[in-house]
Amino acid sequence: MKITLLGTGDAPGTPVIGCSCPTCLDARKGSKSRRTRCAILVESDKGTVLIDTGPDLRYQMLKHDIKHIDGVIWTHGHYDHFAGFSEFHRVQYKVDVFGLEETLEYILDYVKFLHPIRHDIPLNTPFELIGLEFTLFEVIHPPAKNPVGIIINDGKNKVVITGDCQRNIPEKSMELIQDPDLLIADAIVPPSINVKKHMNTTEATDLAKCIAAKEVVFTHLSHYFKPHEEAIKEYPLGYDGMVFEF
Ligand SMILES: [Zn+2]
Ligand SMILES: [Zn+2]
Ligand SMILES: [Zn+2]
Repeated sequence: MKITLLGTGDAPGTPVIGCSCPTCLDARKGSKSRRTRCAILVESDKGTVLIDTGPDLRYQMLKHDIKHIDGVIWTHGHYDHFAGFSEFHRVQYKVDVFGLEETLEYILDYVKFLHPIRHDIPLNTPFELIGLEFTLFEVIHPPAKNPVGIIINDGKNKVVITGDCQRNIPEKSMELIQDPDLLIADAIVPPSINVKKHMNTTEATDLAKCIAAKEVVFTHLSHYFKPHEEAIKEYPLGYDGMVFEF
């Protein structure tokens, strides 16, 4: 399988509109500090799946020459993770969409004009798509209702995506996500900044250690990090277009 981080930014993206901090200035030059909103592309020899569809989806699909999507899985109903689904208008109809019942209920109210084909998926229950096994696990990300992380397994390799979440991941989920080959973790800020809804880099590092992740990459990154080339000396930050192949 091949995983591409299409977007590694937090909700406003980087640069933030109107901001002239060093990271946003660096991002305006087109460097790796520039971060579009969340979407992850998962590819196998059988097809292509999107995990979340942030508002920058049109740009991301053009940039990566993505011609067709076999399914979309949503982690939760925050606009920075689903609003870009509207970009399928007059491009691809009846897209298969997957997620928890409550999440689909909320998002499909917004995108029902596209008539996606709905697949309600229960927690902790593997399902197959494009020859890969996906499992949704419970995380905590207030005030989002029923947010999930996602495990992807190709039979040999295990990838864990936390989605947006706090460090206090429920015990059952912690059991399921042990020993991944790759952990893609929400780490919105360095520890100097206090946030409640997301993990900071210290918490994401601790999570990687607790589940014995072979490799970890941080995403959902804000402009509070130093410019990318400086920040990666301290933290394993992802960047838009970063690829992992197994
Ligand atoms: Zn988010
Ligand atoms: Zn800024
Ligand atoms: Zn969120």
